[in-house]
Amino acid sequence: MQIIEHWIGGKPTAGGSDRLAPVWNPATGEVQAQVRLATESDVDAAVQSAKAAFASWGQQSLSNRSRVMFRLRDLVERHELELAKLVAAEHGKVVDDARGEIVRGREVIEFACGITSALKGGFSNDVSRGVDSYDFRQPIGVCAGITPFNFPVMVPMWMHPIAIATGNTFVLKPSERDPSASLLIAQLYADAGLPDGVFNVVNGDKTAVDALLDHEDVAAVSFVGSTPIAKYIHERGQQRGKRVQALGGAKNHAVVMPDANMDWAASQLTAAAFGSAGQRCMAISVAVAVGDAADELVGLLKEKAEAIVVGAGDDPEAEMGPVVTQASCDRVHAYLESGVAQGAEPVVDGRGLRVEGHLGGFFVGPSVLDRVTPDMDVYRDEVFGPLLAVVRVDTLEAAIDLINANPYGNGTAIFTFDGGAVRTFERDVNVGMVGVNVPIPVPTAHYSFGGWKDSLFGSSHIHGHEGVRFYTRAKVVTSRWPRHTESQAAQLNFPTSS
Ligand code: NAD
Repeated sequence: MQIIEHWIGGKPTAGGSDRLAPVWNPATGEVQAQVRLATESDVDAAVQSAKAAFASWGQQSLSNRSRVMFRLRDLVERHELELAKLVAAEHGKVVDDARGEIVRGREVIEFACGITSALKGGFSNDVSRGVDSYDFRQPIGVCAGITPFNFPVMVPMWMHPIAIATGNTFVLKPSERDPSASLLIAQLYADAGLPDGVFNVVNGDKTAVDALLDHEDVAAVSFVGSTPIAKYIHERGQQRGKRVQALGGAKNHAVVMPDANMDWAASQLTAAAFGSAGQRCMAISVAVAVGDAADELVGLLKEKAEAIVVGAGDDPEAEMGPVVTQASCDRVHAYLESGVAQGAEPVVDGRGLRVEGHLGGFFVGPSVLDRVTPDMDVYRDEVFGPLLAVVRVDTLEAAIDLINANPYGNGTAIFTFDGGAVRTFERDVNVGMVGVNVPIPVPTAHYSFGGWKDSLFGSSHIHGHEGVRFYTRAKVVTSRWPRHTESQAAQLNFPTSS
């Protein structure tokens, strides 16, 4: 059986561990490969390689760094289908959906191609007589990325193109559930002319993560994953004196006002709840139906959820694939069961789904529960599967109160034609990313991505100009050039700008 290794110092590297983890094919329920789990010394080898590479990569001209990004961008485009198939095989999502994440990841590389503009500093002439000030930003060293299973290409790309374009070197620890795409990305970086050691991949679990967090040569850690681990990474990384941005889980609400185009809103919610089998941090998992919206909305959601074609990721007819593991499948089943036991009404129940030819696969069908209330487990927890809960409220204010009382604050959306309602909603809701008639408001690469509350620990969002700031530090120079012949008496008072 294939063993998936690390990528250290510009080449595939086996490392010293005999610990392996299974990589499943979620569509069949079979183990298709094993991934090697790094030891502390494997992590150290990757960090040392990145540290050595930093000495020269950090000194490269901006144009040379951006040229590598231009070449990488083209290679990622040329290998889009190959990458998408790798993702589909290990994650389970359908190939077209996987292509979408590769395009969105590539947009971050496109932003990094423009690093020459993004890193432009400021200059102030004559801040005092004969004195000028200017500032610029410098890379911070070896940066680490620890990423989740659900976007094995896009989420790492939120990090490494910007870290590398700003002059840092990078060690990626991808999810052990779908590690292969990261190794192809490493090969594409090499083909793009990136020097050895600038981009490294260590596969592994908690051992590798802790080794990165504790390593004195790692300057910054970017994490994306579930909330408990995000919190842990943030605390431990900060205790070790590192910069940390840690993005966590989500419970995203979409508010549907009674005046909305109900058919259109229901289609948007169906796509946002069941695309990628609900395993997106920006998936809509709660529909908040305001006033009279509820009955019509629920009827339409039922119709549209039942029409979804579920199948293996490589089935061109399939719109939704399996969830990632048997444990995920069991978790969704358990929340459906507890939701109904606690008083929710099952509208569509995906538990009985059978996908012919894939009876061992981790499939659970699109599911809708109506009359969910905030005290139910299915409302309180992040389910991370194809389960949409409908909560009924009377007013927009009640919808906003509901969302603000929720500990998560990643994304949210409102469906309406009422501009006043939109304005109130976008200002009063305590959530980092807001969609107006857009169900999954994932910002494009030149904006930053990040939630509030338990969806993000640290002060910095990811990618865009916040990414540039996270991976660099500012230096401000104050300069004066007296003539050789000029003389001045020593002035002991504190200098003022006159
Ligand atoms: P996860 O938290 O289980 O794993 C994320 C990473 O942390 C992986 O690389 C994993 O190996 C590592 N990890 C897991 N347990 C660890 C431990 N005990 N100690 C140290 N490291 C550990 O998340 P997942 O299941 O891979 O991904 C799904 C989660 O990610 C969901 O909660 C989803 O909302 C979240 N997510 C959030 C965003 C966002 O932008 N906020 C984006 C994508 C996914």
